Order: sequence, then C-alpha cells, then structure tokens
Amino acid sequence: KHVPHVPVAHLEGDLAQVGANTAVLTHFVDGAGGEGTGTETQPVFNPATGQPIAQARCGTPADVDTAVAAAKAALPGWRQRTPKDRADVLLRAAAVLEANAENLAHLESVNTGKPMPLARDDVAGTIDTLRFMAGAVRAQLSLSAGEYVSGRTSMIVREPVGVVGAITPWNYPLLTAAWKIAPILAAGNTCVLKPSEQTPLTALRMAELLADVLPAGVLNVVTGTGPVVGEALATHPDVALVSVTGSVRSGQAVAGAAATTLKRVHLELGGKAPVLVFADADLDAVAEGIRFAGFGNSGQDCGAACRILVERSVHDELVKRLVSRVESLAVGDPAAGDHIEMGPVVSQAHRDSVLSFLDRAIAEGARAVTGGKAPEGDGYFVLPTVLVDLPDGAEATREEIFGPVVTVETFTDEDAAVEAANSTAYGLSASVWTEDARRAADLPGRLDFGTVWVNDHLAFATEMPWGGFKSSGYGRDLSAYALDDYSRTKHVMFNRVRPADADGSGQS
Ligand code: NAD
Repeated sequence: KHVPHVPVAHLEGDLAQVGANTAVLTHFVDGAGGEGTGTETQPVFNPATGQPIAQARCGTPADVDTAVAAAKAALPGWRQRTPKDRADVLLRAAAVLEANAENLAHLESVNTGKPMPLARDDVAGTIDTLRFMAGAVRAQLSLSAGEYVSGRTSMIVREPVGVVGAITPWNYPLLTAAWKIAPILAAGNTCVLKPSEQTPLTALRMAELLADVLPAGVLNVVTGTGPVVGEALATHPDVALVSVTGSVRSGQAVAGAAATTLKRVHLELGGKAPVLVFADADLDAVAEGIRFAGFGNSGQDCGAACRILVERSVHDELVKRLVSRVESLAVGDPAAGDHIEMGPVVSQAHRDSVLSFLDRAIAEGARAVTGGKAPEGDGYFVLPTVLVDLPDGAEATREEIFGPVVTVETFTDEDAAVEAANSTAYGLSASVWTEDARRAADLPGRLDFGTVWVNDHLAFATEMPWGGFKSSGYGRDLSAYALDDYSRTKHVMFNRVRPADADGSGQS
C-alpha cells in the first residue's frame, strides 16, 4: 500500500540540529497522512533547548468526524478476524517498531527531554505490550459455555466495544499510547488516538511505521488540543468508549462530556505516591529507589516516588543519604549522551508551574535541602529538589507537582503512617519499605492505592494491571484486565427444547 505522506520521518535528519524546524506534521487517518480541515498549527518544542522542532496541526471536530468514520468503516473487517489473525498483525507491528526502535527513542527523547536510556526503555515497553496483548487475547477470548437452565445452553461472548477514542499525555507519549492501542486493537476495536499537543511525534511516527501492517482505518491519529479534538471524541456518537491518561481535570471533563452519549470511560489520572519508610528499612536501598523513582523522567510520572513519609527516628539519616544520591544525578540535555540521567521538564509553562509550587512551599515554611530552583542556561530545567520541614497539610505534600521534587515528612507509628498516606485524594500507587515481614504483609491491604510496592517503587510487569482508585480514576492498563476493559460481555442462550417436547419446565 502506498503511503503518500510520511511527515515525522521527514523530520529525522533535522531533529538533531538546534533551530526552528517549521515542518507541519499531518494527522494520520485511514492509513495515510492527511492535512485535515483546520488552518491552525502549534509548535512542538525540544524542551532541552527551548527550540521548536515542528508544527503540529490543531485538529477540528470535522477532522475527528473523518477519523471516527474511518475507524467505524474498518471495524467490521477488523473485529471479525480471529484472535490469532489479530495477534499475528500485532506481532508484525512489534517487529516493525523494534526495527525502528532507536529512531523512536530519539524522537521521544527530543520531544520530551527524557534521557535516551529511559526513552529506549519506553520503546521496549511499547513493543512488549504489543507482544503481550497479542498472546493474551488468544487466551482471553475463549468462550465459556454451559447449561444453567435445563434445556438451554448459555455462552459468554467477549466482543469489542467498537470505535475507541484514546487520549494520551506528554510524559510517556509512546508508551501510554501503546498501553491503550495494544489491548484496544487486540480485543478487536478500532481506534482514534489524540496524542498530547505537546508531544505528538512518536504517536504519528508509530502510525506511519504501521501503515503497511495495520489495515487502513484501524489506527488513526488526530493531533490538536484537548478541548477541541479530545472533547469531539468524548461526545462523538460513534465512539463507544474514551480512554484517557492525563490529569484529574481532563478526566473529569471527558467523563462529563461522555455522559451525554453514556459512552464508557477509562481513566488513568494523576497520582501522589507516598513512600512509607520504616526505621527497620534498608536506608541505602530506599535512597537509591527514590533517586530513580522520584527523579527519573524529571519526576514527571504519575507514580513518581514524590512524597516520603519516614519514621521520625531515621529522618535525618535518610535525608542525608538521599541528598548525596540526588546531588550525584547527571542533569543535562539528553543529546549530550547516554550518561545523562535527568533532562528538563516538558515545557516552559510546566517549569513555571513547578517553580511556583516551590515558591509556595518555601513560603509555607519548607526548606530545600538540595535544589529548589532552576539552573542557569537554556532549556526548561529544574534542579532535583528535596524539601523538608513541611507543615502538616502543606500544598506540596498534597498536590501533584509533577517535577523533580520530593517532599519528606515524618511519622511516629504505623497507624499514623497509613493515615497520612491515605489522606491524599489520589489513589494510584504507594510503596512500603521495611524488613519486617508482618508489616510487609499487612500494610498493602490498608493502603488505598491501585498498586503497592514493598521495598521497591515504579517497577512494572506487562502481565500485571496498572490503574488507580479515588481521584486517580478507574480502568486498568496492561494485563488481561485491560482486554476486559476494552471488551463487552454478551450472554447468548440457545434453547435446545423442541416446542412439541416442552412441558413448561424447560425440560425436554
Ligand atoms: P493533561 O490532562 O493536561 O492532558 C492529557 C490529555 O488530555 C492531552 O492529550 C490533552 O490534550 C487531553 N485533554 C485536556 N483537556 C481535555 C478535555 N477537556 N477533553 C478531552 N481531552 C482533554 O495531562 P498532561 O499534562 O498531558 O499529563 C500529565 C498528567 O497525566 C498528570 O496528572 C499525570 O499524573 C497523568 N498521568 C497519569 C498516568 C496514569 O497511568 N495514571 C500516566 C501518565 C500521566
């Protein structure tokens, strides 16, 4: 099949150069690049330099109509394929992405500012998700049949829900798209994806790369803003389900908009992960874990280890070990090489937001034992920061800062630790650090979070679900639970009783 336009591929050579690249990206609809109906564009930046690297189109509701129509037209052909056929397609898709892994990682790094080793991990996770869902759907879509009323055979059929709208954030542009697309397509749905307006490059590139693997219309990408393109998906009568990864505010907007058509909603929203550190914990392991899970991706992670709750007796020792590790982080432009461990935050506006959180925290009485400000120079950098001496209920301990900022509070006993951890509106993830077996076994059940790690933080398994409670939303990514979320369940009942034999009891 001929692909008339491969816009992100055209960027490849230019991305390494600093300087404005004014190439205008296309949407990707019905198997090909398309300009859509809108005239407006918005710049896409390299946050490490502050330079624009492309222009993305601001899609319109008419563009969403076209993409949804393409997905709807592709649905019958795609859903009637056997799970094995769809799995074969996803495995081919994984192979194509693997062959282009370094290019995808580079695009992701340049557009988000994340260090190359992390961007490579995201691509590997993307590929693994496609492979897992290809296998899982063949195990999942088996029929369970049985006789529950005499003379009748009942059967459960798992069906795709239809056209699914997928809305993704900027912190893991490729990976969050894959966490949606893989189960959506494996389950037999078709998809219209709206990437974050700030980071559309890898989603478009993935669609281009898969143009010869996926049938036209199965995966469509419309770029643009949340209030226009996102809302058009959430209200569209031909979209059966909208899946959002993003902030609580966006999740609420989508759930509200989806109510008009009563479409299903899948929400992966913000987090404020508490890290419960008991005096018996291995403090070096804790400090190392927070160095990675609190500052990796510049702390822009919904599960980031951002709120440390430490038993009072070991507070000073933990802070000491943490600060020395945090100060050893190699911060810089990811283009400088693979030794860079922390890049910038995603945009100027986001850096301003992180810095204003810091200003307010200091005004409330907190103290930055390291970091606390932006370094000199270009790019949207914030120094890795550890805040202590926070008053009870301080904003920085409650709200999602989504930057390289970790707060440290103390507790005196286990009950107080659990109460403080659960006091947040979020319920995505938490960790417990202890060498005490009873406590390790007991605390996960008392913590109101969708994932609880013990002596670890931010470890993922494709086979295990990811998703939150409370304001962190509902719906599960990864695992066979994601396939459930993107399917609908139908009961089909066969009457085996011949009318002539019927005696009214259902027995023949
Ligand atoms: P965001 O909410 O600003 O944007 C997310 C997406 O929603 C974007 O594509 C945006 O255009 C779209 N959107 C915004 N308003 C909308 C509307 N009214 N209707 C429809 N769509 C709309 O979030 P972000 O700043 O891109 O990402 C950061 C947030 O995402 C953080 O809160 C983070 O915790 C969360 N996040 C959660 C997970 C998770 O798995 N739970 C993973 C990554 C990020």
